Amino acid sequence: MLRKELDVHYAIDLLEHYPFRYTDRTKLNKIGNIKPDDSYVQLIGTLTNIYEEGSGRKKRLTATLYDDTGKIELIWFQGAPWMKKSLVSNEHYIVFGKVSFFNGIPNIAHPDIDPLKSETAKATLSPVYPLTEKLKNKGLNNRALSKIMKELLGKVSKNDFPEILPANIIQQHKLIDRYSAIKWIHFPESNEHARAAEYRLKWEELFTSQLKVGQLRVHNHAQPGWVFKTVGDHFNTFYKKHLPFELTGAQKRVLKEIRGDTATGRQMNRLVQGDVGSGKTIVAVMSMLLALDNGFQACLMAPTEILAQQHYRSITKLLTPMGITVELLTGTVKGKARKEILNGLESGATKIAVGTHALIEDTVQFENLGLAVIDEQHRFGVGQRARLWKKNTTQPHILVMTATPIPRTLAMTLYGDLDVSVIDELPPGRQEIKTFHRNEMRRAHVMEFIRQEIDKGRQAYIVYPLIEESEKIDYESLMKGYEQVRTFFPDDKYRIAMVHGRQDQDERQRNMARFVNGEAYVLVATTVIEVGVDVPNSSVMLIESAERFGLSQLHQLRGRVGRGAEQSYCILMTGSKLSEESAKRMKIMTSSSNGFVIAEQDLAMRGPGDLYGTRQSGTFKFKLADIIHDTEILEHTKLAAQKILSEDPQLMLPQHHGIKNMLLKETRGSNNWSKIS
Ligand code: ADP
Ligand code: MG
Repeated sequence: MLRKELDVHYAIDLLEHYPFRYTDRTKLNKIGNIKPDDSYVQLIGTLTNIYEEGSGRKKRLTATLYDDTGKIELIWFQGAPWMKKSLVSNEHYIVFGKVSFFNGIPNIAHPDIDPLKSETAKATLSPVYPLTEKLKNKGLNNRALSKIMKELLGKVSKNDFPEILPANIIQQHKLIDRYSAIKWIHFPESNEHARAAEYRLKWEELFTSQLKVGQLRVHNHAQPGWVFKTVGDHFNTFYKKHLPFELTGAQKRVLKEIRGDTATGRQMNRLVQGDVGSGKTIVAVMSMLLALDNGFQACLMAPTEILAQQHYRSITKLLTPMGITVELLTGTVKGKARKEILNGLESGATKIAVGTHALIEDTVQFENLGLAVIDEQHRFGVGQRARLWKKNTTQPHILVMTATPIPRTLAMTLYGDLDVSVIDELPPGRQEIKTFHRNEMRRAHVMEFIRQEIDKGRQAYIVYPLIEESEKIDYESLMKGYEQVRTFFPDDKYRIAMVHGRQDQDERQRNMARFVNGEAYVLVATTVIEVGVDVPNSSVMLIESAERFGLSQLHQLRGRVGRGAEQSYCILMTGSKLSEESAKRMKIMTSSSNGFVIAEQDLAMRGPGDLYGTRQSGTFKFKLADIIHDTEILEHTKLAAQKILSEDPQLMLPQHHGIKNMLLKETRGSNNWSKIS
């Protein structure tokens, strides 16, 4: 059971199941002094009224704890029978937990509870372990796990935890040895012990991750790549005759970096970060022309069908005057049309393909793919990126583009293997988007405002949230919203288009096209329009139920306007009662338009696990380290890892055996890092 629940394969591994905090047995609250805004409290008292009620799955256990100042109710909804057996009436207990109030009476659900005279209660700092519900139900509570840990620690010795870090690192960074760290992380005798153990173990974790990305980076840089020798006719003609605007300094710089990478004979692995509207598409197009100039094909992959179509349209528009044909390959292209596209790619007659992940299916063969551009890669899984490799013997140059600004610390762990370019400048003439937060009461006002914008010739988006778990509710709220919008904008005068996930491709595309070509003034949509949609004439983005969106998503949506020369507006519509956190998000949105600032705040508010779907990717699961707060250790470990890899890239030196084994152990059964682009 343990094995399954905690992913613990060996007894020794169990010792790497660390506590996430300690109960400080020296700090105590009095029951009579508990206030509604106290969150966690620790109490000593006498237990009475142990009482089981209900039956079957509804069974629960309650008990009363009292001290000389008052009493509090303890409740267990799970594991009631087991818990009941372990509690003794009129005994003294030490209790820790989160307080809530019901009808003015305080209670604690599922408290940590230990007899006052027990082993665990005696320590000054006692470990609190993360436990799954199932373990708790089976009666393996924190106390039981602590006991197991204590026993295990009694059985192991220093030899079971040999040092793996090189001596000079231990010395330089004042780390304690590994064995002591393991002992103290579980049962520290003081706060200093706990901190030293934590520091040492975090160091080891982050160092290992930095070595991994470092090795991958070395590996990437050693991959042979096609050589783009010349800047030829395609690039030059486009630049001189067809480029619709002057490139920004940042765009030029990034192109130069790409030009540099592709000339070296090594494979390019570059990430281009640029806020929404910074003009990444043109950089991609010109890089593709560079590939063509050197006799290669190029492709651009987008995360959704709508985005692929839009890239296809804009790239076709740019390149048709040059006599270059671009093909669109998505899942909906079928039969004869598909066959023809596949033939064109295989024979080399087709030079540029735009598409979705349909581009990396096994049936798709390029004659000589020189460059693959991946737009908004965080939606492409690691596995999908890895499959690109199969397309050629020599791997194509990889250009990853993202509008999701990635905070530095996150980038270091997540994309430490890629070279990074930043487009940190918006095209000239852009005005800052004005962002307002409004609630339902102001709806009529907001609609009137949108009407005025439309009367000036502009267009508007009205976006509804999408919660995937409940497609039905989403659909209903979208329809209700649509009806409401129509009462404000009678359809004969103000044409409205609607796109949502329930429409089939054709219908969705038709509706989208009506908005893109200006036939419809208002686009009512779910978040399918989130990334990349480009309609420069639109000047209003109204986000309904904005409290239900995350910061990055709100920023992405806002980026759909402000793409032309006109003043644009983003209106965040929410209910009038907001949680503290939602209110904070609205505040951040109205006070900043800088994607990096917003991403930093997002990271700070949500934690890295939630960002960019990285939770599932497992690329940086740390047990103790936290890349928001441990930036200092992260910087240290990065430098240390770089130094070691530059002196000993294969980790062959005897002093590096420990870390080498550690890396091998970690890669066993996990993602194959060498395959991530
Ligand atoms: P993103 O970086 O969000 O993908 P796009 O490539 O879609 O941005 O560009 C946003 C808009 O800015 C497009 O309408 C594009 O034509 C325009 N644009 C890009 N670069 C420039 C530039 N240097 N000067 C003027 N407009 C530009
Ligand atoms: Mg884009």
